Formats: sequence, structure tokens, C-alpha cells
Amino acid sequence: MSALLSVRDVSRNFVIRRDLLGRPRDLVHAVDDVSFDVDSGQTLGIVGESGSGKSTLGRLAMRLIEADDGRITFAGQDLRTLSPRRLRELRPAMTMIFQDPYSALDPRWTVGRLVAEPLRVAGSTTAVEQRAAVAEMLGLVGLDTDAVDRRPSAFSGGQRQRIVIARALITRPRLVFCDEPVSALDVSTRALVLGLLRDLQRDLGLAYLFVSHDLGVVEAMSDRIAVMHLGSIVEIGPAEAVARHYRHPYTASLVSASPAPDPVAQRARRRVVLAGDPPSPVDPPPGCAFHPRCPLAHPICGKRKPPLRAGSDGHAVACHVTNGDPLLTGAALLSRMTGAADALVRTPNTAKGTAS
Ligand code: SF4
Repeated sequence: MSALLSVRDVSRNFVIRRDLLGRPRDLVHAVDDVSFDVDSGQTLGIVGESGSGKSTLGRLAMRLIEADDGRITFAGQDLRTLSPRRLRELRPAMTMIFQDPYSALDPRWTVGRLVAEPLRVAGSTTAVEQRAAVAEMLGLVGLDTDAVDRRPSAFSGGQRQRIVIARALITRPRLVFCDEPVSALDVSTRALVLGLLRDLQRDLGLAYLFVSHDLGVVEAMSDRIAVMHLGSIVEIGPAEAVARHYRHPYTASLVSASPAPDPVAQRARRRVVLAGDPPSPVDPPPGCAFHPRCPLAHPICGKRKPPLRAGSDGHAVACHVTNGDPLLTGAALLSRMTGAADALVRTPNTAKGTAS
């Protein structure tokens, strides 16, 4: 069975400065040669720090922005070659939920008008059908039908995100791009909204492309996880394999930085403190882009970019060191990294020499 969304070798640079003749001078390498699939009814979570390129990758995959290279197919159609008219016709099947429910909703519109808007734009339903669809969708997201006549200011942050979700699903899409959908909400509301998204996925057969900086949230939502660092996927595979048996040092650093649900485990967990600042996407380091901060870096890491290699379980990692050592996974990798980081702190001069 072919994937619902297939992204192959996609790249995108942004010009941030031009010379006097208008030629590109400085580029941000936002997404570099990235490939992944999302199957029907499944969730691919994309996790990484701010600036890793994860939101840009989602927007490229939905053709909200144009890619420089690569191929993107949705439901068997080549998105990059579709005419604007065909793309508009396809839009109801691929929708978005953005981070901030406050800026996503026009405060002058009623909830009924906000939620019905995608149906009106698609133009294939009558006003009566739209009202019925809005009432049904408000029920599905857990809002009373009397919400239709009220404005967004009458609702809390969590309720506003339910309105945003209702509007994203009113056209009955097959794929939803969720870009940090709970990061603007307080902790207790987050759990409710994530539960709602899971229920809706099960009931409506949705596929999610789910982007977050929080590995715990991504693990809770995803069938598969891709970890992004400086525009590249450095690890991808089944959610449990990536979140528990991670094999890339950057993933290990994300795990060590995220709070453990169990307070005892949290106290026992040692944090990997990465040296230096995150590298610039304008002038990325040669070889493995993580090497200036990686406690396990070898001389080859600064010279050659490691390929993303998959094992038989579909768990793929781009690392010169861990790919050659099947025991260097999960807690063992974290322990090796904290030991190596301690050694770097004790002998800072030799550390730099091995890493570059
Ligand atoms: Fe660290 Fe080298 Fe692996 Fe990059 S390739 S993550 S620098 S060990």
C-alpha cells in the first residue's frame, strides 16, 4: 500500500541577503534533502529544537511554501506540479491546525461563521448543509451547539483550540498538519486537547503530521517519529524505538532535556549539557552538523556527513559512531554521553581537537 503523503529528497533554502546585483549572498539552509512517508490513519511526529526546520518541513509537505527540490505526493498526486486550481480543489483533504488559537480566529466573526468558512470557500455545500455540518463538528470537538452565535473572546484557550480543530476538520480531510498545536496551552488543557486529537483520529480515520519541540508530546501522539536537527532528519522510526531506544546523540540530548513523567526517574536522570551555541543554519558546520556540540564526536564527524541508515525494523539513524555499535542505544547511549561530556569539561582543550 502506498503512503498517503510521500516526501522525497525535499530541500528549501531562504535567501536572507543579496549582493548589489541582486544575487543571493547569504542563504538559510532550512530543509536539506529530507524524505519521509505518512500512512493513512497514522501519525508521523516531527521533533526538534526551535530553528531545526520542522515547521518549515511541514509547510513544504503541504505545499504552503514551495520546495527548491524534491518530490511530494499526496493521495498519489504530485503536489509540486499541480496547477493552482487543482491544488485549491485538493486543499479540503489536507488541512492545518496552528499553534496559537488566539491569533488563528478572527475576533469579529462568530464561531458558526469561523467553522463554516472552509466549506464556503470550497463552495460545494448549501447554507443549510453548512449549518448542519458545523453543529455536528462542534459536537465532535466537545462544544455546545449554542457556541455558533458567540465570538472567540467568550472562550478559554482550550475551547478556542477546539474551535480551530473543528474548522480544520469541517471539510473531512484525510491529512492534518498539526504545528505545535498545544504549546500555547496550559499543561492541564494540553492533555485534554491531545486526547481529543487522538479520539478524532480514531473516529475519522485521520492522518497527522504532528510537529512539536516536546519529545514527550510527540511520543504520546505518534506512530513514527522523525528527529530534525539543522534542516536534516537525523533519526526516524517507530515511536517507541526512537523515544526509548534512541540511537542518535542529538535525540539523546532531547531526551535528557525533557522532564520524565516519574519523579524518581527524573531525579535519577542525568542531563547532557551540550557545549557551545547551536550552529547557524546560514553557515552550517561541515560533516555532521551536530559535531561541534556532540560529546561522542570523532575526527570523521567534522569531515563527512553521516548517511541515514535503516535497520531491519525501519529505525534509521545518521551517526558515524552509533550506527556501528548496536549496544549504544537508549540509556546506555545517554550514560556514554554524560561520561564523555564530563571528560570534555575536565579536559576542554583536547575536546575541541577531537571534534573538528
Ligand atoms: Fe556525534 Fe559524530 Fe554521531 Fe554526529 S556523527 S552525532 S558528531 S558521533
